[in-house]
Amino acid sequence: MPELPEVETIVNGVKPYLINKKIIKCNVFTKKLRWNLQNDLAKKLINKKINKIERRAKYIIISGENFFLTIHLGMTGTLRVSNKKEKKEKHDHFILQLSSKYILKYNDPRKFGMIFFSEESPISSNKLFNNLGLEPLSKKFNAEYLYKISRNRNVAIKSFLMNSNIVVGIGNIYASESLFLAEIKPNKISKKLTKANCFALTNSIKKVLKNAIKKGGSTINDYITVDGKKGYFQYDFKVYGRTSLPCHICRNKILQIKINQRSSFYCKTCQK
Ligand SMILES: [Zn+2]
Repeated sequence: MPELPEVETIVNGVKPYLINKKIIKCNVFTKKLRWNLQNDLAKKLINKKINKIERRAKYIIISGENFFLTIHLGMTGTLRVSNKKEKKEKHDHFILQLSSKYILKYNDPRKFGMIFFSEESPISSNKLFNNLGLEPLSKKFNAEYLYKISRNRNVAIKSFLMNSNIVVGIGNIYASESLFLAEIKPNKISKKLTKANCFALTNSIKKVLKNAIKKGGSTINDYITVDGKKGYFQYDFKVYGRTSLPCHICRNKILQIKINQRSSFYCKTCQK
């Protein structure tokens, strides 16, 4: 599943191909992804000039004057720029033809993504955006915020971090990796975090995400070229998926437990 770093990398990767380009034509090959696409979607997008592309949580918002096209990649979606001459591929559901030699393609084998048009910014007008928490890379997401919001919360810190009402875009992988780096066990009860824990954890989250985004830059060609490669980044995870393998720090075995039905990985020596 694309997580925040992948979405950020896609936005950065396709941005130069979209800004100041007009949408000449829009092809809708599939009427239903997670929800039905608007009937007149293609018509609404024609002749619109793109001024901006941004990310909020894991939503991608392409916009211009009086138009906002919001895209969510769901479980298996990708957004790629390719040459107009390229043939349509299997699972290409939506294509924007640009006023250049490029097209923007939405491909999604499991069809769990979302694409919708609005005249107003979805950030202020759509209920999907109403209760979203802070962006993890923003200044507001800091130790004071995490400390304050975690008081009286009896849930495991890992589940707390994965709650998008608190902070957005931290999935299973990045929650596990950030907790390892911060030396905090994933099942620690949120209200028991100290101020020092909160400081370590917010810093670790930012570091892990920024590192993934930086690495993503080198695999960006998968998203913007036509070589047919898809899929998401391969990282060298410190704990995620490393059950029974030696911890990189103390060499003890990495443990796997379930927290809120999600597999969680940690080192019981290094994480307290
Ligand atoms: Zn260890």
